[in-house]
Amino acid sequence: MKKYFFVLLLPFVSVFLFAQQSDRTPIIGISGYVDGTTAKLGMTYVESVRKGGGIPFILPLSTDTLMIDDLLNNIDGLIMSGGEDIDPLIYGEEPHIMLGKVTHQRDTFDLQLIKRAIKKKIPILGICRGEQALNVAMGGTLYQDIPSQIENAIEHSQKEARNYASHPIQIEENTILSSLLKCKTAMVNSFHHQSIKELAPGLIVCAISPDGIIEGVESEDGLSIGVQFHPEGFVFHGDNQFLPLFEWIVEKAKKRSRTSM
Ligand code: MN
Repeated sequence: MKKYFFVLLLPFVSVFLFAQQSDRTPIIGISGYVDGTTAKLGMTYVESVRKGGGIPFILPLSTDTLMIDDLLNNIDGLIMSGGEDIDPLIYGEEPHIMLGKVTHQRDTFDLQLIKRAIKKKIPILGICRGEQALNVAMGGTLYQDIPSQIENAIEHSQKEARNYASHPIQIEENTILSSLLKCKTAMVNSFHHQSIKELAPGLIVCAISPDGIIEGVESEDGLSIGVQFHPEGFVFHGDNQFLPLFEWIVEKAKKRSRTSM
């Protein structure tokens, strides 16, 4: 009798377990880098994901595609962090004289992460280099050095702190970014000397600075957002104006983890 009672309970137990699983906190993988022999990532990213409601999970740099797939199979959302310049040979250009430091292993890691995440429909938030990497991975190109390649450009390499907003951006109407930030203009920080040149197919521009530099993009399928500024630099210091970007990827990740089970 006891045995049958348990069998009768099984459907209820499994529904309960399923509900528990689908309500779990989404895991947001954040691309890391290597400094000497140390795997690294700024705490600004980690804290911003935590404040956005996700579990931050640092993805250690690897060029092993099997490991990259394994990493992606264990996360619900992907954040591509900031960093060095991307090798222009990847998007078919010779290196400009003002090109900064490039790291081939990180280029391989970042581009593989993005390409495979897109295939798996994992939501992506690209930040600074991460936004540029998203554009390159999808077939776009970059300005290698804004000051020498764009006439009348404003200052995009600010010397002030990470949470100091140094230039305005205009936010395009009817974009995910405008629905998240609920404003037409915003003041952002700026720590980049490169930016998107030719926009990749499948991306649209959602933010632009007064000199015409692309400061934000999003994918037509609504699964990826890239920003040229550093939202985590504000969130980490208690300014939550750009926290909705992290809440967005956590929400997207939550929906994905439900439908993929
Ligand atoms: Mn800028």
